[in-house]
Amino acid sequence: MVERYVAAKTVEEALEALSGGDATVVAGGTDVMPQSQAGRLKLGRTLVNIRRVAALSGLALTGDEINIGPLTTVADLNEHDLIRQHLPVLADAADKFASPQIRNMGTIGGNVCNASPAGDLLVPLLLLNAEVELRSSNGRRRMKLQDFFAGPGKSHKKPGELLTAILAPLPKAGFTARFEKFGTRPALDISTVSVGIAGVMAYGGLQEVRVAFGAVAPTPMRGPATEHALEGKKLDDAAIEAAAQAAMQEVKPISDVRATDWYRRELVHNLVRKVLQDVARG
Ligand SMILES: Cc1cc2nc3c(=O)[nH]c(=O)nc-3n(C[C@H](O)[C@H](O)[C@H](O)COP(=O)(O)OP(=O)(O)OC[C@H]3O[C@@H](n4cnc5c(N)ncnc54)[C@H](O)[C@@H]3O)c2cc1C
Repeated sequence: MVERYVAAKTVEEALEALSGGDATVVAGGTDVMPQSQAGRLKLGRTLVNIRRVAALSGLALTGDEINIGPLTTVADLNEHDLIRQHLPVLADAADKFASPQIRNMGTIGGNVCNASPAGDLLVPLLLLNAEVELRSSNGRRRMKLQDFFAGPGKSHKKPGELLTAILAPLPKAGFTARFEKFGTRPALDISTVSVGIAGVMAYGGLQEVRVAFGAVAPTPMRGPATEHALEGKKLDDAAIEAAAQAAMQEVKPISDVRATDWYRRELVHNLVRKVLQDVARG
């Protein structure tokens, strides 16, 4: 049961409230509130609202990386010039996210820390080789987003740690990235499957290929076999089909209320084909 509510105004206040243990952070509340009301999330004894911590908001280009404050809302991601210019795949994923109400409240930090295999911002962030910065009263550490997830709803964030930044390196010239999701309804639906493909366009194909999938494994995942199938290959029909086959074989979906594992593999195959055909057409 919640015994204490802290509306932190600084990172230090939030960390101090978290250091006592058994605390729950609330940012936009769009996961915390419905999950706790449905009994799927047990709130800690201290509720730490970070919404007014100014230092956790905003976006900046620092050296060769974009520093995204965890309180950046999904709507901000869709509209901000830095994201549209340098990381358009993230703006595109934000555009495909829920409804305007949820996009105005939900934050990128909440999407990362909720650690859902279906979190829509996670596939583009994996394509961008993003890292996360975590702070606690003991210090600060950085880790690759790819290493952050531990299972459905679970991450390697320790109790007492706050996500304080998401960092994406500036992509090199010629870098292109696409994101597609499939849900039974276009808005307000958790992805049944999502696919992201990125690389540097050269000689009619992709180099330094990165592939990521959502909702097909216990965590969002990179697709090394699909990356290997695509690396340096001209994007003709045979190469596209080979990559789509590799993708459907390397994902590890489950059957649940949204789809069977068989159907998810078929969706992965078809979405990979669709994305690659788009890339090939330029
Ligand atoms: C109707 C509806 C539709 C939705 N549609 C989509 C969708 O299309 N795609 C999608 O991906 N998601 C969707 N969601 C889920 C949710 O909106 C997103 O995951 C959103 O990004 C969560 O952000 P938040 O700020 O609301 O997180 P919160 O609910 O505030 O927090 C989520 C989790 O992260 C933790 N947390 C938040 N910020 C930090 C931080 N800085 N440091 C440490 N821990 C932190 C919280 O303790 C909690 O465990 C939907 C939710 C609803 C209710």
